[in-house]
Amino acid sequence: MSGPEPGGTTRATDPVGQCADFLQGIVYLLDNELAAADVSAVRTHLDSCNPCSETYDLQRRVKELVARSCAETAPDDLRLRVRMLCREISAERVVPPGS
Ligand SMILES: [Zn+2]
Repeated sequence: MSGPEPGGTTRATDPVGQCADFLQGIVYLLDNELAAADVSAVRTHLDSCNPCSETYDLQRRVKELVARSCAETAPDDLRLRVRMLCREISAERVVPPGS
């Protein structure tokens, strides 16, 4: 039976865990749903963390692409399908009212 971890090891730097925390912040930042206090924290991390700044860049580009393709008029057929899909997804989340 081996104990958990020797308490002596320094685990102060846990970039992966830290980045996982910031990843959500990055998504919120892109959606402009991040509290002002957190914005600077995420921005500071982005400046010092290459992988996260790349992720931010990528997410932003994807968002721009989606926004652009949404701005274009989609064929009615496609629009209808997307709308139905959205309804399906939200229907799955919502508990149906009493039978
Ligand atoms: Zn990071």
